[in-house]
Amino acid sequence: MRQIALYGKGGIGKSTTSANLSAAFSEMDLDVMQIGCDPKHDSTRMLMHGRWIPTVLEQMYDHKEIKSEDIIYQGFGNIRCVEAGGPEPGIGCAGRGIIATFQLLEKMDALYGDVVVYDVLGDVVCGGFAMPMRDGYAQEVYLVTSGELMSLYAANNICKAIARISERSTAKCRLGGVICNAKNMDNERELVEEFAKRIGSRLVCYIPRSKSVRAAEVNCMTVIEHDPTSEQAAVYRDCAKTILENTDLRIPTPLALEELEELARHYL
Ligand code: ADP
Ligand code: SF4
Ligand code: MG
Repeated sequence: MRQIALYGKGGIGKSTTSANLSAAFSEMDLDVMQIGCDPKHDSTRMLMHGRWIPTVLEQMYDHKEIKSEDIIYQGFGNIRCVEAGGPEPGIGCAGRGIIATFQLLEKMDALYGDVVVYDVLGDVVCGGFAMPMRDGYAQEVYLVTSGELMSLYAANNICKAIARISERSTAKCRLGGVICNAKNMDNERELVEEFAKRIGSRLVCYIPRSKSVRAAEVNCMTVIEHDPTSEQAAVYRDCAKTILENTDLRIPTPLALEELEELARHYL
């Protein structure tokens, strides 16, 4: 079972990319599960045709005994969709939803398949959001970033977490590469490519900004489903194939803040 985690700043395109990759994996006849690990709980919405599925945390509050059908929902391509969810705003710890989700799925023997895709918020890489890496679930991490400084900053912080976790525990957590989800900035590809090189990794996918993403989104579908013959769908399929074939997993070398800023200035 491949356990692939996409980490990145909020709004950078993690869920869009995760859902399209999951859809592409399912087209390859793989058994796929996608787990949203973001309190926003919209990771699987396009796979579920716009439906907000109940989150694990919501179900925990409502049910005494939770059955797998209360938290696992079948979406496009028979992809099993789960949303960890988050606490009520202003109360509690967001990481709790993630921890509770994994414990419950394991108890149910429901964490299986050819590929499990974790879609994880990476603005803060605190104990809660580092949980999938620390406890050996997210064995292969892909950083989703654009060329914007703040999204590179978040990606760099995730590298720090991977490096620290690899140093201090036996968890098999490695960086698989960087996915550039472009914002159409000048020299963006070159910048993200250089960032990837400096952290000791590589750019595995370049995903252009595309109107077909928005068109698919308003129709509550992935691009793979909504516009299967589009160039963008082909990009997601290529990316899925690259990730599937990737065996180059590394412990990253995060950059100092000054180096990151210098890099961003250089590629203006
Ligand atoms: P995240 O999960 O990181 O918070 P989302 O996947 O929800 O981010 O994406 C944020 C917004 O950006 C969405 O409206 C989505 O449609 C849009 N988006 C993401 N990737 C692309 C892309 N390659 N081209 C155009 N729009 C995109
Ligand atoms: Fe928030 Fe993370 Fe602290 Fe939990 S561990 S309260 S998610 S910062
Ligand atoms: Mg998201």
